[in-house]
Amino acid sequence: MTDSFPAFKIGHGFDLHRLEPPPPEGRGRPLVIGGVRFTHEFGVVSHSDGDALYHAVTDALLGAIAEPDIGRLFPNTDPAHEALDSIVFLEEAVHRVELAGYRPLNLDTTVVLQRPKLGDARDRIRKNLAAALGIPVGCVNVKATTHEKVDAIGEGRAIAAHAVVILQHREHLHA
Ligand code: MG
Repeated sequence: MTDSFPAFKIGHGFDLHRLEPPPPEGRGRPLVIGGVRFTHEFGVVSHSDGDALYHAVTDALLGAIAEPDIGRLFPNTDPAHEALDSIVFLEEAVHRVELAGYRPLNLDTTVVLQRPKLGDARDRIRKNLAAALGIPVGCVNVKATTHEKVDAIGEGRAIAAHAVVILQHREHLHA
């Protein structure tokens, strides 16, 4: 045990994407939240697939280990990231957590969205996140709230996501 490797590290992530109609009226890509595709009249404006929840979780993981954030690791000017499935970003963050000697213990998230409701997709999203982080589904929460019809999110023009994750250093793991 050293001061350089505290037993626990906590990370926070936030992301927001604009919602627009699909082309030609707007620039919305199909709406994807936590790896689940939703049928909705608006889609996300993004260089990648615009999965705001995966992006927030990616930044929470990177934040915990004090690595550059998702925008610096994966610049939106890189053509290689065009329409990319955001699981790639999340897996890279999980990999970096492992390299740093840590592993996730649990994850709590909130999706802020006026419409559509997450509904039954919530459990699929939890499973996707649990699989990506290598932790039990019971250690992943996906909460949802509207924005009370005010401001951009409430008016259906944006989606946001928050994530908090805690990591434990492997030297402190119990067998
Ligand atoms: Mg994003």
